[in-house]
Amino acid sequence: MSYKEFSPFRVQLLGLALGLVAVAGAARAGEIRDLRLVTAESSTQLVVELSGPAAHKLFTLGNPNRVVLDLAGTTLPARIALPPAVGIVTGVRAGKQPNNTVRLVFDMSKSVRPRVLESGPNGPYPFRLIVSLDGSGATTATTATNAAVAAGAAVATAPVVPHAIQPVHAPSESGRDIVIAVDAGHGGVDPGAIGPSKTREKDVVLQIAQALVAKINAEPGMRGVLTRDGDYFLELRDRMLRARRAKADMFVSIHADSIGNPSVSGSSVYVLSERGASSEAARWLAERENAADLKGGVSLEGRDKVLANVLLDLSQSASISQSMAAAEQVLRSLDGVGEVRKPRVQQAGFVVLKSPDIPSLLVETAYISNKADESKLRQPAHRARIADAIFGGIQDYFNDNAPDGTRLAAARRSRVADATSGGRL
Ligand SMILES: [Zn+2]
Repeated sequence: MSYKEFSPFRVQLLGLALGLVAVAGAARAGEIRDLRLVTAESSTQLVVELSGPAAHKLFTLGNPNRVVLDLAGTTLPARIALPPAVGIVTGVRAGKQPNNTVRLVFDMSKSVRPRVLESGPNGPYPFRLIVSLDGSGATTATTATNAAVAAGAAVATAPVVPHAIQPVHAPSESGRDIVIAVDAGHGGVDPGAIGPSKTREKDVVLQIAQALVAKINAEPGMRGVLTRDGDYFLELRDRMLRARRAKADMFVSIHADSIGNPSVSGSSVYVLSERGASSEAARWLAERENAADLKGGVSLEGRDKVLANVLLDLSQSASISQSMAAAEQVLRSLDGVGEVRKPRVQQAGFVVLKSPDIPSLLVETAYISNKADESKLRQPAHRARIADAIFGGIQDYFNDNAPDGTRLAAARRSRVADATSGGRL
């Protein structure tokens, strides 16, 4: 179907004064193979599997709130069941429109700003449309994760386990806990890399992240929070936002690497590159009226561009050097567990590392594309060793660099005081 054939339909939509969210996709007759709703916390996604690409339109209607997905040149076979209502979706209906268009209508419990991503086909995974029905509307125009989604994916069908995000330690009079945000890479429709024995990166990194948080929470004066605690998709900037909301002192993203050469193995640790930092600074400057305050309550709002730039630059370079110091400790600690791929900390422009005021690391725990590494990643004991090693590195770093106002900083001061007075007695 050509674009031209589509235009009367568009006019019809505009005539109804709808919020037209997306018009995309090549057209060919096809059928819907599967429909699923996947939900976790604030995030609800619709996954549509299709026999091939379909021209689609996604838009919203108010009074009552609905999300509508039209799929042109498509059929909905009778054997395909509509998914039951879940999360913010209170009802699901399907109907036929002119032009062999299937219309899917989702009744929503609130007004949302949905977005659609196309994915695949890739290997065993068919062509899919993934509609993020996420009601927060907080993130817009994030395309950084599309590549990951487009890589093809198995879809989360398992129910999500309830929250692990809770403080374990009671507030202490001698200061707050150091908060570490632990980010398990990928999730939900994005499986990450897949090993030769079909081990999915998203699964093993979640298990390592959970082990790491348990370790952190067992340490007095430290608290771990997970950005995701189940098998669901999270946008990269949402991960950063969750760390910021948790007032994290450090962000650690856990991954498993993959490469064409199956003999490559070992772990690596990354921090943000200077180039990645400057592109993020440009973004914060452009949005400085809306941007969150930097750590320590430094606001960019109302600052002139030059001053805002200086503040950001100071914050970002401090963060990178702290990230580098912590990453060196983590790398040293991982060296004790097994082979380290690269003996030095690597720098790259990974989006999740771009918080200008939270020291951030990304650990590629192993090469899942390597048979031996993959088989180790499948062993709980090995995953525990990796988690212990990452924890050891973080602990070494904070023992020397405890932020002011934390229990660890207070404990350190009192140890120094004891040592001094001990000398006089
Ligand atoms: Zn990854």
